[in-house]
Amino acid sequence: MTFEYAPAPESRSVVSIASRYGLFIDGTFVDSSSGSTFTTINPATEEVLAEVAEAGTDDVERAVQAARRAYTEVWGPMSGRDRAKYLFRIARLIQERSRELAVLETLDNGKPIRESRDVDVPLVAAHFFYHAGWADKLGHAGYGPAPKPIGVAAQVIPWNFPLLMLAWKVAPALACGNTVVLKPAETTPLTALLFAEICQQADLPPGVVNILTGAGETGRALVENPGIDKVAFTGSTEVGKSIMRSLAGTDKRLTLELGGKAANIVFDDAPVDEAVEGVVNGIYFNQGHVCCAGSRLLVQESIADEIVEALKRRLSTLRLGDPLDKNTDIGAINSAEQLSRITALVSSGEAEGAERWSAPCTLPDRGWWFPPTVFTGVTQAHRIAREEIFGPVLSVLTFRTPDEAVEKANNTPYGLSAGIWTEKGSRILWMAERLRAGVIWANTFNRFDPTSPFGGYKESGFGREGGIQGLGAYLTTEVTR
Ligand code: NAD
Ligand code: MN
Repeated sequence: MTFEYAPAPESRSVVSIASRYGLFIDGTFVDSSSGSTFTTINPATEEVLAEVAEAGTDDVERAVQAARRAYTEVWGPMSGRDRAKYLFRIARLIQERSRELAVLETLDNGKPIRESRDVDVPLVAAHFFYHAGWADKLGHAGYGPAPKPIGVAAQVIPWNFPLLMLAWKVAPALACGNTVVLKPAETTPLTALLFAEICQQADLPPGVVNILTGAGETGRALVENPGIDKVAFTGSTEVGKSIMRSLAGTDKRLTLELGGKAANIVFDDAPVDEAVEGVVNGIYFNQGHVCCAGSRLLVQESIADEIVEALKRRLSTLRLGDPLDKNTDIGAINSAEQLSRITALVSSGEAEGAERWSAPCTLPDRGWWFPPTVFTGVTQAHRIAREEIFGPVLSVLTFRTPDEAVEKANNTPYGLSAGIWTEKGSRILWMAERLRAGVIWANTFNRFDPTSPFGGYKESGFGREGGIQGLGAYLTTEVTR
């Protein structure tokens, strides 16, 4: 049964949101040269949160020049020990301002406060602490005795973990001595702009971090700017491919972190309740807006009915609604566009003959919502088994033998993550050797840690973020300009 809870909203007043934001270039907030702006919305209420400057080609050029100057004059020549001091200071400020950051993230993105407060923001701080620790030890990271920074990094990030994706990009780049121009996603620019304020508060030298708000055109202008040395992109496979095409023939370095269609594989010897919790965390965490989400449940045939039944029972207890409420499990879908993508793919599942079940919950009148949904009777040919839905929708397939599980799990153009649920350690290792995925979790799912490299194979992209491996994306042993 579901208990009634009294509302327990986190206070919105812990964060002050300006009505208008400029671009963060060379240490200060400035208007875009065209004066053009766009609005960002709270997806749970459709309320306009702020008006934000839209960067054009001229603004990109200004930001890249500021980053170049800061790189050659200040940040590149600075000792790793001194760079570390700034990064530690930023990490501590993130902790100090964690409540503000969590509330702002929840307002702009729609994710439950419990997740922004307990997962996103602590991981953001952890990424800065971890990389601060590397800044003066890069000669011991396995990249030769004196690896060099690459230069100016252009970084484009998505809306699903706005501040965390910023941390994954900015912390290693800065630790290695690069400067950055970062473009947050158009639906979630606000925590990046608060991060810009934190850079000011930390006295970070002007131009080391530049933040350009805008949509796809701003991103395109940034990655095509001839003054940058490296592009790091997280987002859709389609945009990733177009960036790769536009960089071909240049000497810009590139890392891509794209989509996924991960298999969460449950064997008949797995503890049912734990596995069900893991499946729920795998696909309903962050409304399923997770590139490494366990969006395909592969369950051994003999226990499939039991698992699906337990799963539906568990999903019926999840609370969907006000993301600022501390009891909320499922928040809002980030945008109307994303909701229509989810709805279209769910309709295709129904039309192609899979059986849909959605948790019985009341959706709020305003904002964008989708109930936790499970499809059974899914075949590998169905679109919902092949395409990334990026929403709270699980496709259930079955298997009989470990070989069949491996074959089905790998039958995808993606290769970002996978999960294995079994009591047998030997089976975990046997499976892990055969699954073609960058990250494999065993008897857990969606665990992140700054010491652990993250990244994919095939259409999930290339390059790693996090850990010693992630430093390699921001270092070179070549002589740089
Ligand atoms: P997207 O790839 O369009 O956007 C990601 C980022 O790239 C945003 O900052 C966007 O402004 C920017 N961008 C868009 N076009 C660009 C271009 N031509 N050049 C440079 N930058 C550009 O993703 P989306 O439209 O927000 O989502 C579409 C789908 O992508 C989702 O349904 C989901 O399947 C997938 N997605 C994956 C991830 C991930 O973490 N791997 C994140 C977001 C979305
Ligand atoms: Mn928003």
